[in-house]
Amino acid sequence: MMLDYIVVGFGLAGLSFSEQLHQNNNSFVVISEEDKSSSVVAGGMYNPVILKRFTSPWNAIAQLEYAIPFYSQIESRLNTVVNTPLSVLRVFNAVEEQNNWLIASDKPNLAPFLSVNFKKNTNEFILADNDFGVVERAGRVQVAKLLNAYKSELLNNNCYLNEAFNHDVLKISDDYLSYKGLKAKKIVFCSGFGLKSNPYFNYLPLNGTKGEVLIIKSENLKLDYIVKSGVFLIPLEKADCYLVGATYHWTDKTWEVTEEARLELVNKLDALLCCDYEIIDQLAGIRPTVKDRRPLVGQHPEHKNMYMLNGLGTRGVMVAPMVSSELFNYIENEIALDSEIDIKRFSAEYKNDSK
Ligand SMILES: Cc1cc2nc3c(=O)[nH]c(=O)nc-3n(C[C@H](O)[C@H](O)[C@H](O)COP(=O)(O)OP(=O)(O)OC[C@H]3O[C@@H](n4cnc5c(N)ncnc54)[C@H](O)[C@@H]3O)c2cc1C
Repeated sequence: MMLDYIVVGFGLAGLSFSEQLHQNNNSFVVISEEDKSSSVVAGGMYNPVILKRFTSPWNAIAQLEYAIPFYSQIESRLNTVVNTPLSVLRVFNAVEEQNNWLIASDKPNLAPFLSVNFKKNTNEFILADNDFGVVERAGRVQVAKLLNAYKSELLNNNCYLNEAFNHDVLKISDDYLSYKGLKAKKIVFCSGFGLKSNPYFNYLPLNGTKGEVLIIKSENLKLDYIVKSGVFLIPLEKADCYLVGATYHWTDKTWEVTEEARLELVNKLDALLCCDYEIIDQLAGIRPTVKDRRPLVGQHPEHKNMYMLNGLGTRGVMVAPMVSSELFNYIENEIALDSEIDIKRFSAEYKNDSK
């Protein structure tokens, strides 16, 4: 049987592209390893404001408007709940920050998200003397739960192979690709930092930024909102558990947790909390970040049936649904990709002696 697509990698990118295929009745098989996934580690937060400088992330409004119904459609089909809307409460370190917040809240791209009413801190276990600024329309997607629920559906339909993709075994001809026993018209690589070992696309400048988080338990806190100070403190579905993160490390490209990151997170947390907590886990992943901070989407320079969806960076939850739709429309409906995300912007770095 000739499939329409093989999808390699099943994090947020692979899931989002699979959903485009599902919605458009395309046949496909996903091939993915599971041990090196940034998505499984992700806090899963979507937050349409950069809270360090009170600015707007690239294309945030459009991404959010696409992403929320996208996730709810999957929730309905899989009969599960993964998205929890949550406010983000930004601790003000000084009155000057409150003024900057109010100035930012006048800007059209930030006005829908930055409340002009500051919130008093009523939680005795949080250190915040200058009130909170409230970000609205933020929240959290339980990414690991989403991936598991989606994978179960794929497994039931015999569309998921849990194994490493071996690029050396792929055979490419003009009309189709063959891989072990599979034949498909097209292949889309969604392999996150695994791109580094993909001989077809490793000319692309994916830097990768390692991040680590802690999972803590505290019976005192009782938060039903996200707090942002030096770290994000995100309530989890398990009672009294919170995710604390994240770190940013630009040179370490290993997937192991480190003592250095644990200390950094504990120091920042201790500046925010005045209650006991227990650290119950520590996780590490590598974000697929790109030097120009834009996704990597598009067609291989020579192999016209080979595509890439990557570079989701630090905000995969918001970015993945929309860019997956842009890639699908590019391939199937010949709608040009936005030049900001198209991998053609790096064509000068492609050498013809690459695969
Ligand atoms: C600590 C941390 C916290 C984060 N917090 C957030 C957050 O709160 N909100 C947010 O939006 N984003 C967050 N992110 C970023 C987010 O995780 C990424 O943007 C997103 O998950 C990237 O998804 P992806 O599918 O491109 O890559 P990945 O999730 O890494 O998925 C790639 C998949 O491909 C597989 N793979 C790779 N190579 C091969 C191969 N050869 N054969 C088969 N399979 C292969 C991998 O095993 C993996 O399963 C965070 C990241 C980190 C590290």
